[in-house]
Amino acid sequence: FIIPDFRGFCHHLDQIYNSCKNNTNGKVASYIPQLARLKSEHWAVSVCTVDGQRYSNGDVNVPFTLQSCSKPLTYAMALGLNGTDTMHSYVGMEPSGRYFNELCLDYNNKPHNPMINAGAIMTAALVKPHLSAADRFDFIFNMYRRLAGDEFLGFNNAVFLSEKECADRNFALAYFMRENKCFPEGTRLHETLDFYFQLCSLEITAESGAVMAATLANGGINPLTGDPVLTVDAVRNTLTLMHSCGMYNYSGQFAFKVGLPSKSGVSGCVLLVIPNTMGICLWSPPLDNNGNSCRGVQFCMELVSRFNFHNFDNL
Ligand code: GLN
Repeated sequence: FIIPDFRGFCHHLDQIYNSCKNNTNGKVASYIPQLARLKSEHWAVSVCTVDGQRYSNGDVNVPFTLQSCSKPLTYAMALGLNGTDTMHSYVGMEPSGRYFNELCLDYNNKPHNPMINAGAIMTAALVKPHLSAADRFDFIFNMYRRLAGDEFLGFNNAVFLSEKECADRNFALAYFMRENKCFPEGTRLHETLDFYFQLCSLEITAESGAVMAATLANGGINPLTGDPVLTVDAVRNTLTLMHSCGMYNYSGQFAFKVGLPSKSGVSGCVLLVIPNTMGICLWSPPLDNNGNSCRGVQFCMELVSRFNFHNFDNL
């Protein structure tokens, strides 16, 4: 086993879970009513190792929307479809140092990276653009299902509808990119935005999210089903950008202190990847000022203080 004393490891996870449970900091996202209604008490931790050992504690079977945690996953799928060079002729690989939804492009007039909204809208434009909207959704839903090894995957239509309703900034980003001729020829702007909102509205549970993260940890092969969902190159690129850009304006500090690829989303989700070891999904809705789950970030800190999972431990 990759974690020889898994019971002992789980005992530590229980302790960290309980310690984070006492953290009542942060505020639930309120830009749409469907997120504002999330209960701040929800707290879920789920782990799946690359050899299929599982740990779950808390609200691990309550569905929540992926939101920005969809960004690295869709990016990984788009890489498999287009290759690295084509993808990165449309979107950069540099941390932006700006807010995730800021109306700005890099020096080459490209979105800075696929982990911010502009880059994720661009990524959405690069997934099977020739398909109809319905077939595109079917395609991506099936890819996500494979990532989760057929565990829970849903779609929250109310979140989708209200994302679409409260999307002035995302529309502005898309028009700004079109003005700057960022998109491939023939891109249908409104359809692309709808697709982006749909990706944000995909639902997982902490348990199915842990399997997704474990698939990344395992180089793209789902550890439970053996399904080669993503290419190794796609996973390498994705983990790299999660490492440098995954936690909003806290990404640099997170890379310094935790040293692991991760991505957070506004629903309070954090996907954490320990390469070649395990995937972890954390979910607790209250967010800190950077937009990261308070309990989620605390969990990551405590985890690396107990175990040498930081990228540059073991030197
Ligand atoms: N749906 C949100 C948006 O596009 C996702 C943002 C997020 O999770 N940070 O604004």
